[in-house]
Amino acid sequence: MRMIDPHIHMQSRTTDDYRLMAAAGIAAVCEPAFWPGADRQYPESHLDYFNILTTFEPARAAKRGIRHYVFLGVNPKESENIPLAEKVLARIGPYLERPTVLGIGEIGLNKNTPNEIEMLKRQLRMAAERKVLCVIHTPHAAEKLRGTQLIADVIREVDPPRHLCVIDHCTRATIDIARATGCWTGMTIYPGKCAPEEAAGIIREYGPERMLLNSSADWEDSDPLAVVVTVGTMREMHMDDSLIEKVVWHNPIAFLGQNPKFVI
Ligand SMILES: [Zn+2]
Repeated sequence: MRMIDPHIHMQSRTTDDYRLMAAAGIAAVCEPAFWPGADRQYPESHLDYFNILTTFEPARAAKRGIRHYVFLGVNPKESENIPLAEKVLARIGPYLERPTVLGIGEIGLNKNTPNEIEMLKRQLRMAAERKVLCVIHTPHAAEKLRGTQLIADVIREVDPPRHLCVIDHCTRATIDIARATGCWTGMTIYPGKCAPEEAAGIIREYGPERMLLNSSADWEDSDPLAVVVTVGTMREMHMDDSLIEKVVWHNPIAFLGQNPKFVI
């Protein structure tokens, strides 16, 4: 089965991972800009990262037969430093014009602070004004339920086109709040986020419309083949192949393909 992983941090992965993903059927990936492990100290550090994500990384992926697209923005963790984030956003424009950039992300909340909420609103407005796609990260563990509710409130206030936004890292506990916004919803198969059985169960219960599956694999314990593993889980649960293919292939094409830069 052909698959797309719409949220994965390949900068943190090896070239062998690309080879395994290609062999397993993953034809394209999307990489949202995220936190490198320590807060960046200079706006130029973000800009250099945007440059790497839009030059070196798509070339590295293409050599192994995978198409690579990106979302650029200031991640929730680093949104806490508003003066620095403002300097990045003042200079992000030309990077967003690059040929593999599909939109803004990942933005969202981490600890649900006022500064994070402010930068989420600003970047959501920026995406809406530009009519580009937007990937919204919901917080981890203890902060997740409250954070998802706050994100839903921000979406109602800013009122972006819902069909261009995905609320990501949804779980059983947050899926109703995320679905009620009208946005796309993503489930991340990652230790501590969502297990394959949990994601499969949610898809079976809610149906495949506006549903995306991703690995969010990065430098922590995570699996760049998590989407592939979950396809196996759904088959073991006797879910129909056409439903599975919709979630891992046709849905990401429908969502990402809203930006004409996305070609598969
Ligand atoms: Zn991510």
